[in-house]
Amino acid sequence: MSDVLVEVATGVRVIALETPTLPPATHTNAYVIGERDVIVVEPASPRRREQARLFDALEDAECRVRAIYLTHHHIDHIGAVEALVARTGAPVWAHAETASRVPFAIDRVLAEGERIEDDTGRAWAALHTPGHAPGHLCLRDAEGTVIAGDMVAGVGTILVEPSEGSMSQYLASLRRMADGSRLLLPSHGPALPDASAVLDHYVRHRLGREDKVRTALRASGPSTVAGLVPIAYADAPMHVWPLAALSLEAHLVKLVEDGEVVFDGERYRTLS
Ligand SMILES: [Zn+2]
Repeated sequence: MSDVLVEVATGVRVIALETPTLPPATHTNAYVIGERDVIVVEPASPRRREQARLFDALEDAECRVRAIYLTHHHIDHIGAVEALVARTGAPVWAHAETASRVPFAIDRVLAEGERIEDDTGRAWAALHTPGHAPGHLCLRDAEGTVIAGDMVAGVGTILVEPSEGSMSQYLASLRRMADGSRLLLPSHGPALPDASAVLDHYVRHRLGREDKVRTALRASGPSTVAGLVPIAYADAPMHVWPLAALSLEAHLVKLVEDGEVVFDGERYRTLS
């Protein structure tokens, strides 16, 4: 007996697929929008067995895949794209910044505000929300139901790493999403009702950490990222420090952009 697609919001069904994602999360949600000619958001898993679960569930629900929508380019989101394209011939939709980072063709490049209609006539809009990834796209309907990708998580945390992410952009995107969102459907974990409270919490949490980074830097004088982690993340268990170092660097980059901190190529120091 194969898995079923579970309705999480009106006209939105989900199946959680096991993926190589950031612990403690273990699964990525593949969302199915519409009734019969559906849009699949994130054919997530690179693992054959999980791909088969998705394909069987779509088949059992008698869904034809009209399009594949990508929130961003990470492997735990795009793992089954090529397999699903081979099976259905469906076009792949994504932002230009995602198109330049994936090993397959994007058939429709989506920009901010682009309108998408599902087969029930319901309108969705693409929301460009960079920060976690440059081409991150949410999808929101008129009632404020949001396919939120990796902007927020029901399980685990969202990593903003300096190599391809931006803390300033991430914060700006969270703030922008708060206006007009009601229900967040994240890529990892359960649905998050009360969108504005969740988004507000995420912003406050990041600003709280930024404050810890600022205080740590003031206290220790000119420092490297590695030197600041034990101070700014003293409240976090040591096994998360390697990831914390990435996040901390993203905070420092933002403080440099804000003109509060300077970086000499090796050490950061506060200007005040
Ligand atoms: Zn991601």
